[in-house]
Amino acid sequence: MPGGGGGGIAMTVLCWLEIDADGAIDSSARALPVADRLARSANEDLVVAWFGEVGSIAESDLLKMGADKAFAVASPDLDGYAPLAWARALAGLAAGLPGEAGAPGGVPAVAAAPVSAVLAAATDRGNEVLAHLGAITGLPMAANVVSATRTGPGECRLIRQRWAGSLLEEAVLDAQLALLAVAADAVPAEPVPAEAIPAHPALAGAGSGAVSVLRYEPELAPGDLLVRAAESAGERAGVSLATARVVIGGGRGVGGPDGFAALEELAGLLGAAVGVSRVVTSEGWRPHRQQVGQTGTKISPELYLACGISGAIQHMAGCQGAKTIVAINTDPGAPIVAKADYAVIGDLHQVVPALVEALRARRAGAA
Ligand SMILES: Cc1cc2nc3c(=O)[nH]c(=O)nc-3n(C[C@H](O)[C@H](O)[C@H](O)COP(=O)(O)OP(=O)(O)OC[C@H]3O[C@@H](n4cnc5c(N)ncnc54)[C@H](O)[C@@H]3O)c2cc1C
Repeated sequence: MPGGGGGGIAMTVLCWLEIDADGAIDSSARALPVADRLARSANEDLVVAWFGEVGSIAESDLLKMGADKAFAVASPDLDGYAPLAWARALAGLAAGLPGEAGAPGGVPAVAAAPVSAVLAAATDRGNEVLAHLGAITGLPMAANVVSATRTGPGECRLIRQRWAGSLLEEAVLDAQLALLAVAADAVPAEPVPAEAIPAHPALAGAGSGAVSVLRYEPELAPGDLLVRAAESAGERAGVSLATARVVIGGGRGVGGPDGFAALEELAGLLGAAVGVSRVVTSEGWRPHRQQVGQTGTKISPELYLACGISGAIQHMAGCQGAKTIVAINTDPGAPIVAKADYAVIGDLHQVVPALVEALRARRAGAA
């Protein structure tokens, strides 16, 4: 296992994972290989953390992540998204990861481990919390990172997306603690290599790898909880756009607000979120929080079904992380047809209801 090569103090790369009811969200799962490669480039440990209780990520999933240790950050005050409080908690961890409790009273048996980098997926929350963390620590934060390698103490070589992903920049970050937001839409979700899966020292002799999960209750400063979201509209509606595994996109071709009823129906059948182009939000057909693109949400679903969307570069900047893109468009010359994995040349007002009908029939047959 890694562990601070050369016999010095073991350094650690900390990857913060956003979670939902199923464990780590896809964007965080994509940020993890970047964190893993950074840790291995310096022979450092990889530790993950999330906001929630100890069991929020299954141990089997933690093992697959190759993490050496995990922290569940929880406190009675942290019952919703609170950007400054979350950043404060990460700052507490970054100041030195607590060791395992050695005695009643929580006295650490192992000295705090120094952290060399904190990574998170560059979601809205990831960017916001890391920006707060930068402000708290007085350190720079690098956004839109697609790869990071340690080149020396306090120095990382980065590749970052610029111009909405249309060019890549090589950069060197000088900082004792690197704060990196990973452009998860540009990074494939790769399994961590088998050799990186830990046999945790605490369980040495137990015969199998294991990840120890510690509960960490952060010390918050007055005012850290002034800004907090106890509930978000996306979560209330079911599936959040940024983390959805399937997204049904609608553009100008949908024709107006009423045209979205069929897309909503299809989304309901597939457990999908609805995303839209900027024309749709500019026209006021749908709210801006549903916009996909350079100036909207970046999505990285398994499937993006783009209906009546031309595929402008600013739109593609938000959906290029989709594993499979299927376009429904009347125009075979629309840019999205060339960029999609599959295209249906046809009127979405016929194709989408036909899909809904077919899915319904299949469900009725299965019942
Ligand atoms: C600085 C800047 C930032 C921007 N940011 C974003 C962004 O974040 N997100 C974004 O989306 N855009 C963004 N844009 C706007 C972008 O350039 C495009 O104007 C926009 O994406 C086009 O939206 P659309 O594809 O819905 O519309 P259109 O380009 O008008 O395309 C409509 C498509 O629907 C098809 N169609 C029409 N009727 C049907 C039908 N019945 N069935 C099937 N297909 C049909 C047409 O063939 C066409 O391809 C930005 C622009 C700028 C300048």
